[in-house]
Amino acid sequence: MSLTIPFDNTYARLPEGFYSKLAATPVAAPSLLAFNRPLAEELGIGGAIAPEEVAEIFSGNAALPGADPLAQLYAGHQFGTFNPQLGDGRALLLGEVVDREGKRRDIQLKGSGRTPYSRMGDGRAWLGPVLREYVVSEAMHALGVPTTRALAAVRTGEEIYRETALPGAILTRVAESHIRVGTFQVFAARRDGAALEALYRYTLARHYPGAADPHEFLDRVIARQSALIAQWMSFGFIHGVMNTDNCTLSGETIDYGPCAFMDAYHPDRVYSSIDRMGRYAYSNQADIIVWNMAQLATALVPLCPDQEAAVTRFTEQVHAMPERIRADWLARFGAKVGLDAPTPEDGVLIGELLSLMQAEGADFTNTFRGLLDGSARDQFTDRAAFDAWAAKWRERIADQPRAEALMAGANPAFIPRNHRIEEMIQAAVAGDDAPFHRLNAVLSQPFTDQPEAADLARTPLPEEVVPATFCGT
Ligand code: AMP
Ligand code: MG
Repeated sequence: MSLTIPFDNTYARLPEGFYSKLAATPVAAPSLLAFNRPLAEELGIGGAIAPEEVAEIFSGNAALPGADPLAQLYAGHQFGTFNPQLGDGRALLLGEVVDREGKRRDIQLKGSGRTPYSRMGDGRAWLGPVLREYVVSEAMHALGVPTTRALAAVRTGEEIYRETALPGAILTRVAESHIRVGTFQVFAARRDGAALEALYRYTLARHYPGAADPHEFLDRVIARQSALIAQWMSFGFIHGVMNTDNCTLSGETIDYGPCAFMDAYHPDRVYSSIDRMGRYAYSNQADIIVWNMAQLATALVPLCPDQEAAVTRFTEQVHAMPERIRADWLARFGAKVGLDAPTPEDGVLIGELLSLMQAEGADFTNTFRGLLDGSARDQFTDRAAFDAWAAKWRERIADQPRAEALMAGANPAFIPRNHRIEEMIQAAVAGDDAPFHRLNAVLSQPFTDQPEAADLARTPLPEEVVPATFCGT
C-alpha cells in the first residue's frame, strides 16, 4: 500500500468498555466514486493515490497500517425516548490523525458492516444516503457551518435490501470527534462513574482544554451548540433527527439523515417522513437543542461533588440558553439583512419579513439573496406589503456601510436543494455520477453567483418539490 495515513489514535486507548474493536466486513467489488483531495491534504494523507487503491482502503477491504478500527458505544434519546444502548451499528472509527493545523480529527467508515451494536440492522448503507451526506456535509462546510466532512465515497459492488434491492456504498467521514451527548448518557445511565470521569477528562482535553469544572464545560458546549443552531436556521437548514446521539460535543453538525434545506419558508416545516409530530421542525430546533443540553447536564451531575448544588446550577445554565440562542439568531439574521449590530427592534423588522415570506411561501434562500439585487420582490404576489417592508428596511440600512458585504456573505445563492439531491441520487443509481460532481463543484462556492448553474439556484417547480425525506438506513 502506498497511500499512508499518519494515524495517532487516542480513543482506542480509553477503557475497553468504550467500544468494540473489530475490522470492517470486506465488500465484493469496491469502486471509487469520490475522493476529497483538498481534505486529504489537510489531513496529511499522502502517497500515490490510484483510484483502485483508494477504493480498497475506504471500503475497509485493505487493512491500513496504524489503524485501530473500533465501533463506539453510546446511548441516546430518540424522539424523546431514552435508548440505553445504541452505538456504531454500521460505522467504524479507523483512527485519528492530527491535521495540518494541529487539530485531532477522526476518520470513520460509515456502512462498513455489522458490529456488536447493529441490533437488527445490516451494518450497511445504500448509495442514496451516502451521496446525500457527502454533498450536504461538504455544502455546510462551504457555508461556514461546523460539520463533519466527507473524505471519500465508494460503491461496494454489492446490493443491499431496503424496500427493494439498492446499490451499496460506504462513506468516509471526518469529524473533530464522534463524542455525542449520548456517549455521556450511556455511562451516566449505567452509573459507571469511572468511565464517565474518563470520558469527561478525554473530552475536556480534546475539545475544551482549560474548562475548570463540569459547569464551565457545559457553558462552553452550550455556546457552540447555540451558535450552530443559529447558523442552521440562518440557512433554512432542518436537521431532521436531533436525537441526543446525533448531537456532538465538538459542536459539529453530524448525521445527515432526513435533513433538508427549506425551499418555501414556513417555521413549522418538517421533511423527515418519520417525524410525524414535528418534534424536529425548523423552528423547534432552538427548543430541542436546549432539551438536549438538559440531557447532557443530567449526565454530568454524577461528576459533581455536591450534586444538589450542581443540579441548581445546571438548571440555571440550561434556562439561560434560550436567551443566548436568541442573541446568536439575531446576529445571524441581522447579517442577512445587512446589519452588523442588530437591536431587538431590528429583530422585529426581520420577523415582519419572515411573516410575509410565510404568508406567501416565499423561497427562503432566494428571498434573502434577492435583497442584494432587488429580486426579492419577485417572490411576493402582494408587492405592496413587501414594498412597505422594504422601505422601512432601506431606511434602516442607509447608514450601514458594510450592509452589502454582510449580506453577500450571509445569503448564499446556492444551497443543496432537495429536488436536486434526489435527481443526483437517481442519476448515480443509474450509473451517472456527473450530477453529483457538478453539485459538489457549484456548492463549494455558495456565495458566488454562478450564472451557468442558475438551474441549481432555482426554486423547485410544483412537480419537482420533494416533500419528504427518509432516514439514512
Ligand atoms: P441514525 O438514525 O443514523 O443516527 O442511527 C441510529 C442508530 O441506528 C445508530 O446506533 C446506528 O448505528 C444504527 N443504525 C442505523 N442504520 C443501521 C444499519 N443499517 N445497520 C446497523 N445499525 C444501524
Ligand atoms: Mg446517528
